[in-house]
Amino acid sequence: MAYEIRIWPDKILKQKMKEVDFFGTDKLKEYIDIMFKRMYELEGVGLAANQIGIPYQIIVLDTSVREEEKEEKKEGIKMALINPQIVHKEGEIESTEGCLSFPGVQITIPRSKKVVVKAKDVEGKDIQLDAEDFLAVVLQHEIDHINGIPFIKYLSPVKRRIVLERFMKKRKELAKAGG
Ligand SMILES: [Zn+2]
Repeated sequence: MAYEIRIWPDKILKQKMKEVDFFGTDKLKEYIDIMFKRMYELEGVGLAANQIGIPYQIIVLDTSVREEEKEEKKEGIKMALINPQIVHKEGEIESTEGCLSFPGVQITIPRSKKVVVKAKDVEGKDIQLDAEDFLAVVLQHEIDHINGIPFIKYLSPVKRRIVLERFMKKRKELAKAGG
């Protein structure tokens, strides 16, 4: 089936995606619709295009999914960003993250506390975003994806090896069980 979630070590997760130059087209709108649909199905707060095999620099996110869980009244931010780039980083926080491409893996890594992101919207208009804390983390995670960088990159080599070995072993067991 097309647009299935790609699981590590799928090679599209290790590649830098192409810049979008087809703004305002049905093709771009379709990609974005499919990405939101998949993200909600998989109950993620963010999704990068290559995670479902779309080879372009597109990310979608909706932080309201998480806010609801926490029963906070805060309104979430829902958006699609095209060709996003982090142009400024500030501070550091510890972030505990999962990833739809690494099912079952949760790790704590350092992230910047604040980021400034420049991107385009679906019509090609400039967007600038000042984000901090959870939103900043989601943006860093997803923008890393379209640059071919998985979140395990931020672990020490020893920890990374342990996490990966455990993950690959579990994948093999599931494959054997036909799951
Ligand atoms: Zn991810």
